[in-house]
Amino acid sequence: MTLTRTTCPYCGVGCGVLAGADGTIKGDPNHPANFGRLCSKGAALGETIDLDGRLLHPKVNGQQADWDTALDLVAAKFSASIAEHGPDSVAFYASGQLLTEDYYVANKLMKGFIGAANIDTNSRLCMASSVAGHKRAFGTDTVPGTYEDLEQADLIVFVGSNLAWCHPVLYQRIAAAKEARPTLRIVNIDPRRTATTDLADMHLQIAPDGDIALFNGLLTHLADAHKLDKAYVKTHVNGMEAAIAAARTSDGADSGLTAQELAGFFSLWANTNKVVTIYSQGVNQSACGTDKVNAILNCHLATGRIGRPGMGPFSVTGQPNAMGGREVGGLANMLANHLELDNTDHQRAVQDFWESPTICTQTGLKAVDLFQACADGKIKALWIISTNPAVSMPDADGVAAAIANVPFVVTSDIMEKTDTNDLADVLLPATGWGEKDGTVTNSERRISRQRAFLAAPGSARPDWQIISDVAGRMGFGESFAYQTPADIFAEYVALDAAVSHFPRDLDLSIFADADYATLIPTQWPANDHRFFADGRFYHPDGKAQMIPVQAPVLPKVRFALNTGRNRDQWHTMTRTGKSARLGPHLAEPYVEIHPADASALGASAGSLIAVESIYGCTILRTLITPRVAKGQLFAPMHWTRQQTTHGTVNSLTAPVTDPVSSQPALKSGAVSAAVY
Ligand code: SF4
Repeated sequence: MTLTRTTCPYCGVGCGVLAGADGTIKGDPNHPANFGRLCSKGAALGETIDLDGRLLHPKVNGQQADWDTALDLVAAKFSASIAEHGPDSVAFYASGQLLTEDYYVANKLMKGFIGAANIDTNSRLCMASSVAGHKRAFGTDTVPGTYEDLEQADLIVFVGSNLAWCHPVLYQRIAAAKEARPTLRIVNIDPRRTATTDLADMHLQIAPDGDIALFNGLLTHLADAHKLDKAYVKTHVNGMEAAIAAARTSDGADSGLTAQELAGFFSLWANTNKVVTIYSQGVNQSACGTDKVNAILNCHLATGRIGRPGMGPFSVTGQPNAMGGREVGGLANMLANHLELDNTDHQRAVQDFWESPTICTQTGLKAVDLFQACADGKIKALWIISTNPAVSMPDADGVAAAIANVPFVVTSDIMEKTDTNDLADVLLPATGWGEKDGTVTNSERRISRQRAFLAAPGSARPDWQIISDVAGRMGFGESFAYQTPADIFAEYVALDAAVSHFPRDLDLSIFADADYATLIPTQWPANDHRFFADGRFYHPDGKAQMIPVQAPVLPKVRFALNTGRNRDQWHTMTRTGKSARLGPHLAEPYVEIHPADASALGASAGSLIAVESIYGCTILRTLITPRVAKGQLFAPMHWTRQQTTHGTVNSLTAPVTDPVSSQPALKSGAVSAAVY
């Protein structure tokens, strides 16, 4: 069996996979992300490539249609809406599952040819707070380090990250490093005890959203213990005094930890030079997510622990191509190629390069606001690409009603029956993993190829082609005349060269002469590159900026609902749900509850409890465990309305967002619970 060298479609670790049309799956021993390792999800990919449930042909109003009919209708509806109501009357909602080439084309169509910025994606739910925090601190959205830093560190601090389940191969690499070098210390900061905690020397069970108080406390400790790198700060960092003054207003006591726990952590951090802080959704998915990110970055900047081997903050992305999406500007507040949407020079440069009739000049609708605009009747035509927001957005029932309120909805998907597709007028069949070609960027800025090893099923087409076909029918054919994804990647790299005079971190020159067909996994701007090694950042004066942040006043709630993922499932299970071997691990919707809370409710193991918020009510199986603290619940978000009649977990979550990043808070919503 011939095996094709490709990349896993799930998490942001971006593991290399060798895949065959007969379902053979092996870890790619030559891929620098995984060196042959795969996790349970990646190893089961071969069980997910059948055609059961696939959307194989376009559908219009529930009836099979040919491509011309469907595409003509989509183009006509979008063009009519723009003509009658203006460019802001249409919107795209896309996905971190898209390949970079798909993302690039969708972003180009919306921002350069429709002339609005109403393209947001489920990456808003994933890492928008990290993007915003990076930009405030560094002047760019830069992940400074590489995976090797994790193996070279002497202290790894996990914050709001169940890496063991959500980025398993990265966790395996760290576990192997600790086994080989037991002096590597690991701290796990999480309100919940998780599989990741098993590797930790210290578990700090903070209060939900207690992170800012904790890292502010660390910053004041570093100052008081004379552990700041004042020489580094003087040359490379602004704002330290203000950040420390703000930190003193919330010096750890509000984190929910004891003085002894705080002292132990502060001392360990202060006295270890090589520290990497890994953070993920427990930091990002919060109403103060951006401030949490900056509280972490402040500590690294104040000590110069950034840009050097084994040191630095490390945001790990949940999705396979959230990084590629942000590189091509696939969010409502970005332009393209790490250029600024509100910078007129950047706007002009992109418009000139695209030779486009227009260019967006102001931020578009971000995810929560986008669906609110749908509910308010402001969006007349909506295109949802490769995602299932009727299940994955907060206030999912409200979002489903909002989508139903849009006069014309088109979805592009690989599956036919999804909660979102049920609300669409037109369904467009997309090719999926193994059937399409393109690139993805992983959490360490490494661009890898996804390659097809299966024929496109039915009449399915790649997303870039579907979007280009619609663009052509809207009158923009010349600018979307791509024949292959290689054409798009080449244009993306050429745009980068055309705007190279603007100070940015993104630099794709390493790909200028690359052969797309044989492209090997490559980091930008260069392999093994660490940003900020020279102490130069991207604010106009070349310095980094520490941000004063204050801990929030934590609300008193009966239960705080934390949501997340299971080890063996992915998003709304359209792919992982097909695998027999993945199914048995936590096979039905459940909620973790502390034994004391279960006792107070009168709930027994396995009984059903009703969890209720002001947005909805969901019935879940009780899993009684001290892994969650008293007063907290944890429930995974995977199950859809089509898989359970008892309600989705995101029916409970609130459309409350971080004021800087607009990322929804999905980790500590106020709910009540009662035996069902
Ligand atoms: Fe895929 Fe992530 Fe598992 Fe690697 S760690 S095999 S990228 S799901």
